[in-house]
Amino acid sequence: MVQSDRASCCRVGAETGRLSEEDFLFNSSEQGTVLSPSSCHIRVNEHVYEAPHSRDGPGPNQAPDRERSTPLPVQPDGEGLKRVGEVLVKTSDPGGKFRVLGCLITAHSEMGKYKEMLKYALAQIDTAREMEDPDYLTEGYLNLARSNEKLCDFQKTVSYCKTCLNMQGTTVSLQLNGQVCLSMGNAFLGLSVFQKALESYEKALRYAHNNDDKMLECRVCCSLGNFYVQLKDYEKALFFPCKAAELVNDYGKGWSLKYRAMSQYHMALAYRKLDRLPDAMECCEESMKIALQHGDRPLQALCLLNFADIHRCRNDVDKAFPRYESSMCIMTEIGNRLGQASVYLGVGKCWLQQKELDKALEVLQRAQEVADGVGNKLFSLKVHCLCETIFRSQERQNELREQVVKFLQCVEELELYCGMCGESIGEKNQQLQAQPCSHIFHLKCLQSGGTKGCPKCRHASMKPGFV
Ligand SMILES: [Zn+2]
Ligand SMILES: [Zn+2]
Repeated sequence: MVQSDRASCCRVGAETGRLSEEDFLFNSSEQGTVLSPSSCHIRVNEHVYEAPHSRDGPGPNQAPDRERSTPLPVQPDGEGLKRVGEVLVKTSDPGGKFRVLGCLITAHSEMGKYKEMLKYALAQIDTAREMEDPDYLTEGYLNLARSNEKLCDFQKTVSYCKTCLNMQGTTVSLQLNGQVCLSMGNAFLGLSVFQKALESYEKALRYAHNNDDKMLECRVCCSLGNFYVQLKDYEKALFFPCKAAELVNDYGKGWSLKYRAMSQYHMALAYRKLDRLPDAMECCEESMKIALQHGDRPLQALCLLNFADIHRCRNDVDKAFPRYESSMCIMTEIGNRLGQASVYLGVGKCWLQQKELDKALEVLQRAQEVADGVGNKLFSLKVHCLCETIFRSQERQNELREQVVKFLQCVEELELYCGMCGESIGEKNQQLQAQPCSHIFHLKCLQSGGTKGCPKCRHASMKPGFV
């Protein structure tokens, strides 16, 4: 599977005047509004409009995907949104109002205007209550969960997802449950609760398979890529986004291009970790191009961050710094706090490379604060690890000891060790395997262990099919 990844990912517009990563940055730093779609010269004729919403009749093979079921009647620019707003004011039919709100939610989500997204999700819930319609209410809560996920309020996300899952018996719940599980998985991953994240992703995949929902499967695969990047099983980190890219190729004709962009971005991430930097660059450029076409600010920020990281891996900090800066600009604007922490971490590593230890410490401190605010333990662990290196080289013994203790606490809390050999997980690139209970082990330990079931919880059952 892994070896077929490059060939299977056809590349939109690659044959016609390919933009290089340098062009993206030029646009970002020269313009007042960073990377606005109008500031670059990209063909937009491949822009795929999403199918119009029909609550009553998705075809038999069209699994109703939230992304598709609340499409944009207009492009998400200011003018279009104003028109949608006007429709909203005139609408007296609550069902119509609910759908218009759905459009506004999708549009604002793509632009990274998450606070507005949240506002409209709350309005949706009010409307649903007015109608006393549990279907609409479930959908409203899903949007509320998603808004919170984007704003990195992961505890709230989990609790709204649980609200959705508890509203069983509604006709939409079966169609939405997969998406609820995906959002819940993302929230658990944001909180570094790996076992629960994996459990949620597996459930989401099961819903996707049962409903033949390829879009959902594609999104879960991207999230799983992210999951395994964090745990440093880079083979799986590449496998899942490649699988997502395959799904886009095989079924994605009517989908929004953002699915391609999403899979390319996650592939780029894995390639960078595998030190395949030219591949990483190529995928990231492809992703960035689409993100610009769609005015997808959140993805632009992530791509810029990845560009910066790639340059850092090439020891080219002069190129890395401005890209971190551009990325930080958007991350701050949209409120992606986890993204901000990632930027700080990257900048800190750059200062380390430059042997500017005090500057590195200062930035790492900020990374720590943001990560604490979000509740992401893995970031804390990474920060402690880097601080350890710095204090060791400065021979500051007391500070060093403090960092070591904190680091070990994080490892303990995150349960980042293999239940069989007791060695760490997520410290270096190693193949991992999950048990059906979603406990994670070294693959080699499970293979050599010969036990049936999970050594951690003694849960005996079949091996999982997907992850
Ligand atoms: Zn092990
Ligand atoms: Zn277990």
